[in-house]
Amino acid sequence: MITRFAPSPTGLLHLGHAFSAITAFDLAKKSGGKFLLRIEDLDRSRVRDVFEEAIFDDLHWLGLTWPKPVMRQSAQRPRYDAALDKLVEQGLIYPCCCTRSDIKDALSAPQEGAQGYGPDGPVYPGTCRGRSMADRAPGDALRLNVRNAMQIFGNKSFFIETGGISEGCNIIDPAKFTAYVGDVLLARRSTGDIAYHLACTLDDAYQGVTHVVRGRDLFDATQIHVVLQALLGLPTPIYLHHELVRDTNGKRLAKRDDARALSRYRAEGRTPNDIRLNFGL
Ligand code: GLU
Repeated sequence: MITRFAPSPTGLLHLGHAFSAITAFDLAKKSGGKFLLRIEDLDRSRVRDVFEEAIFDDLHWLGLTWPKPVMRQSAQRPRYDAALDKLVEQGLIYPCCCTRSDIKDALSAPQEGAQGYGPDGPVYPGTCRGRSMADRAPGDALRLNVRNAMQIFGNKSFFIETGGISEGCNIIDPAKFTAYVGDVLLARRSTGDIAYHLACTLDDAYQGVTHVVRGRDLFDATQIHVVLQALLGLPTPIYLHHELVRDTNGKRLAKRDDARALSRYRAEGRTPNDIRLNFGL
């Protein structure tokens, strides 16, 4: 068994991260497997060195260990580009020049089958879908043509295997998926940075991750990752979606919510064991 914890250094880790990381670590340890740490540092506008250092400090404090060197997504570009080429060859990608406000405007215009919000925000209305890669201009984003992708994915149902801390199996319905998710962003506009879904899917496969432990808030992301795996001929790991850690008002913890930051618990003299006991681990 190979598990991983894949934080983005865009804020301080909180109790919810601790739960994910400890669960992944314990699972690997119990099975005699491996626990990996991967730094998902692709969003250059939000990544900070101090947050990366804090990730290492917090996880060491929790008593977790992992093999070195740690993979950083910012150093993996050639592998991501090779996967993009594979999708281009299958005719599944198109360039997109829409800004956020173009997308907002298109969505507010009256249209047939008006779409709403998906896992990544407003569902892309498909303005650039007719463009070919030959027409790609510098600064264009790249999007997956989900309609075409679902034809390759097939009309069959697809199961995401689940384990002890998730409920049941899940089926990806191509029509619903297309309407809800829309044309997934694979590379960002203007910077050309590879987007989370593609990088994460590729890295889990590359690192041989067999069990992905993540919060239920990433359940929709998992479905996107399963579709990308099918398109790229990658194996699907087992996904364990755990309940989210919430504050006393029942609100899920966010990175900006420093009150539940692990460093704060540490500064207050709590021990890693307190954190584990808090989760019943
Ligand atoms: N870097 C993402 C996060 O921190 C990835 C988590 C995941 O894929 O499990 O939310």
